[in-house]
Amino acid sequence: MTVLARTFYRARRQATEWWGLIVVVAFAYLMAMGQFSAKRLWAGDLLVLTGLAIYAATLGRAVMRELGPVAGEAPRRRGGARGAVEAAHEIELGLLLVTGAYILIVATGGLGSFLYPLIYALVSFLLIVNKRRWVAGIWLAATCMLEVLVGYASGRAGLEGHWGTVAIHLIYLMFFAAGNLLVLSSLARRLRGQHAESVSAELARVRQEASDFRLIASQLPLASRAVRSREEEELRMAQGAVHAVHEQLFFTIDLLCVSLDLHTAALLWVENDDEERRPGERVDPRKTPRLVIKEMATASEMVRDNPMIEAPGVLAAVLRDPKPLRLKSLGGRRVPPYYQGPEAITDLCAVPLTDGKVVRGFLCADRIDDRPFTDQEQSALDKAASQCLRIIEQERAFAAVERGKYEQEQFYCASELLNQALTLDDVYAKTFAALSAMAPYELAVITRHDAGAGIHEVIAVRCHDQLDQQGLSERDVKHWRALAEHLDGGRFRDGACLVSMAIKNRHHMPATGDYPDTSVAVFDPKAKLDKARSVLVLPLVRGEQVLGTVTLVSSRAKAYPPAAREMLRVISHQVGVSLQNARMYQSMEQRATTDGLTGLTNHRAFQERLEHLHALAERTGQKFSIILTDIDHFKSVNDTYGHPVGDAVLKRVAAIFTQHARKVDIVARYGGEEFVLVLPDTDGEGAAVFANRLREEIAAQTMTSDNGSFSVTLSLGVAEYPGDGLERHALIERADQALYYCKEHGRNRVTKVCDLP
Ligand code: GH3
Ligand code: MG
Ligand code: MG
Repeated sequence: MTVLARTFYRARRQATEWWGLIVVVAFAYLMAMGQFSAKRLWAGDLLVLTGLAIYAATLGRAVMRELGPVAGEAPRRRGGARGAVEAAHEIELGLLLVTGAYILIVATGGLGSFLYPLIYALVSFLLIVNKRRWVAGIWLAATCMLEVLVGYASGRAGLEGHWGTVAIHLIYLMFFAAGNLLVLSSLARRLRGQHAESVSAELARVRQEASDFRLIASQLPLASRAVRSREEEELRMAQGAVHAVHEQLFFTIDLLCVSLDLHTAALLWVENDDEERRPGERVDPRKTPRLVIKEMATASEMVRDNPMIEAPGVLAAVLRDPKPLRLKSLGGRRVPPYYQGPEAITDLCAVPLTDGKVVRGFLCADRIDDRPFTDQEQSALDKAASQCLRIIEQERAFAAVERGKYEQEQFYCASELLNQALTLDDVYAKTFAALSAMAPYELAVITRHDAGAGIHEVIAVRCHDQLDQQGLSERDVKHWRALAEHLDGGRFRDGACLVSMAIKNRHHMPATGDYPDTSVAVFDPKAKLDKARSVLVLPLVRGEQVLGTVTLVSSRAKAYPPAAREMLRVISHQVGVSLQNARMYQSMEQRATTDGLTGLTNHRAFQERLEHLHALAERTGQKFSIILTDIDHFKSVNDTYGHPVGDAVLKRVAAIFTQHARKVDIVARYGGEEFVLVLPDTDGEGAAVFANRLREEIAAQTMTSDNGSFSVTLSLGVAEYPGDGLERHALIERADQALYYCKEHGRNRVTKVCDLP
């Protein structure tokens, strides 16, 4: 029964394998029978057209197989089996091409066709690219046969002199073949050898460079390191590790295969490490874990192409109770699940790979020559299994070290970036940059919390810099941008939102970073995050205080696994520190540039701002005016009502100046009870009008004190650039002269420099 099933399976499989050859033979037959003639083709013979379609599809399949990626995922086969399959594919493709050329020749007038040289060109090409001489022989023989067939068909069609043509063609073909085989193919072989050498040299160089790059990467400038995304980095590390593991595993089991003379050695993995089982643990029979073929060395052609094993079959017992399993005299009746068709397996040995107490997978070995596995052989398998585990463990440790190094680098990089940030805007920008390097997000939001008022304010929002390159649809990109705009600057009260909870608990929210229910408010309940699948709100903790939060939003599920959450938590602390530093720096700077009593620009900052404005005016030729003003008889205000009342008067005057000035004007306390105003883009005339308005406004104010109410007046001197002077100091000097003139001539008045006598 097994033999029958096996024969049938083989036949079916061979039919698909040799499909191309079947098509070629069918075509040869058609041509021989004279069915395939130009006349009939153009007449639209259904049979011929169907044949052509099948032919084209087969040729397409063969070419795709040749051009397609090498089947890296499929189990590797040892020895001849793989070579035979390759050669069969080569024969098939060559014959299809030759047949195609003859179809064209027949369709364009038979052996006398102008396209006939195509045959010579094709034969030369095939002989040059081919590596196996016997394959070349088959092609050549087939070409000669087709030539004779076409000649025969031509004879049937009544064309004259065809046998002569056939004979000449055959002689030429032989001549071409001999020439190619002797001269060109040896040349091609040499070139191929040189090419292979240069390719392997290039590969070695690339590999060396790749390992060099790992070193160089840690010395890259900060900015470029920050741009590299965490995912790219993890992928890079994982790819290297996976490749190394596969290489070593294959080497181990291939060695086993040869030394124990096995038909197949396979490393099967128990799928899903999260559901690890312990020996003896009871399992729900409906939920047997799935097996995956991780690596395989085999001489069989019956192994699965798909590494997923749905039913464990003969291995069900070891899955249930992970102990070594030895079976003999199977007689091909029970086939291990890594075969997809019948195979005459006689003996099987499977040992579990246990990592601590956890079963990771099985190492299976089988034979077809009726030699039961001995104890010694089982122990060799056991040792190989341990070796496999060690390989994986080693690579895992290496990957962990690499990841640790990368994470450290990221921390260092992010801390350095954040430490450099002095202004708040800078802190926001650096925070977003640091976050991009650590976790995926579409939207990142920083909020500030006013604990006293119970209000949160969105102080910075950013869509990911590479939002367009994340494979999102245009609509989604628009959605995230619109959401960012909507959130920006928003204020909302303490409540049941995740931001409030993160601040209250001083812990990130939600705990898992998952966001399955979009009805849960993150910020303002009105702002819906419909497309979010993962959300992480991190509190910005600074000592006892929580300054606010930084929130990451991603449309991907499980975007924030535990390792990422931990890194983000540490970085959010750093952000908290930087935010507070920036605030301190800002307030220090403010203190250094403003006058404590009036809140106006102080003398030093005024000089700086005037210098700036003056330089700009010099470049652009723009006018500006300076008003220097002094409160009249201020000494007597102090003397009569006391110093604190004098201070209050100074504050009131300053407030009225600020109220009347434009945003671009500079209003500064020049010293004592003297103030200075600089009005850009204003001439002396305009400035005098403004000065008079200020004078009237102040005079109209009623000041109150315990000793009764009173009012004060101002004297104001006005100078204009460039009319009254080109230098800053000269201009102030002139304005002071005009002010002095006011004091001399009755006070409570405005004098322009140009009006001075
Ligand atoms: P004049 O009309 O000529 O300007 O008379 P004046 O009394 O204002 O004379 P002067 O400019 O010499 O007097 C300035 C006074 O302003 C002296 C000082 O006591 C007072 N003063 C300066 N700075 C402050 C301050 O910060 N607070 C208070 N309350 N008084 C100040
Ligand atoms: Mg004064
Ligand atoms: Mg005064």
